[in-house]
Amino acid sequence: MRSQNFNSDKPLLYLVATPIGNLSEMSPRAIETLQNADIIACEDTRVTGKLLKFFNISKPLVSLREHNEVSEASKLIARILGGEKVAYASDAGYPCISDPGAKLVQLALQNGINISTVSGPNAGLNALVASGLDTTHFYFHGFLNAKESVAKNELQEMIRRKETIILYEAPHRISKTLNLLFETFGDRYACIARELTKQHEEYIRGPLSELVEIDPATLKGEMVIVVDGCKNEIKPDLNNEEIYQMVKNFVGMGMSTKDAIKRVSEIANVSKNQVYKIYHC
Ligand code: SAM
Repeated sequence: MRSQNFNSDKPLLYLVATPIGNLSEMSPRAIETLQNADIIACEDTRVTGKLLKFFNISKPLVSLREHNEVSEASKLIARILGGEKVAYASDAGYPCISDPGAKLVQLALQNGINISTVSGPNAGLNALVASGLDTTHFYFHGFLNAKESVAKNELQEMIRRKETIILYEAPHRISKTLNLLFETFGDRYACIARELTKQHEEYIRGPLSELVEIDPATLKGEMVIVVDGCKNEIKPDLNNEEIYQMVKNFVGMGMSTKDAIKRVSEIANVSKNQVYKIYHC
């Protein structure tokens, strides 16, 4: 069923993107939308409260976050259907992107409510476009699972992706994640984009073998990791000598023998058993 957002009687839910650091990136339309709302739903009322104070906006705030998203979304839907104007903003950037909001959108659509997005900054896209890596096709993953074994599986599933990969990470896990990336992807080119739009904005570009050497104490604040996709890495016609050398090179770069064998078996498209035999014979 077709229905235009601004030329119909259908109720609307506004999704408002907010700054990822620099408050000057709050758009005039975002300010206007929040000023015109009857209720502002947000992830954390303290964070959005500060933003609203900065722009002299005073509105009732309702918290909708991961743990209460479904129950709060139902209440908000009822209020929108009752005629109130509702806008939703997460703590920073786009709602629904590694942030709550998707369930609210789904429930709104199921209840005949249209959705309009107020554009704004997104950390992943900022990082991607300045990374120097291929922007034609990209894969956004967001955060890896906090559990290392699950994160390893997630990375394994990405290994053959040709698209540039975008990951979000927290400073206390950056070191571990860079090491996991190096172990899994080998020495691909990558970029750490840190503190975007803020005073200490920094892009660190280089092969993963160099990025893993950075002192983690210097990697503070918020950051995105952009990693090159799989570029001609699958080489099905390697001979035994080449397979042996490749394992040796990975081990020389600091990878465990087990991980190096696994990695080479994926690159060469031969079984781990076979690579193991070639390496140990
Ligand atoms: N919704 C947000 C968006 O559209 O980008 C993402 C929110 S997610 C909970 C927070 C993560 O985004 C951070 O851990 C970091 O990886 C990334 N991020 C947010 N702001 C950033 C910034 N100013 N610089 C670098 N990364 C940032």
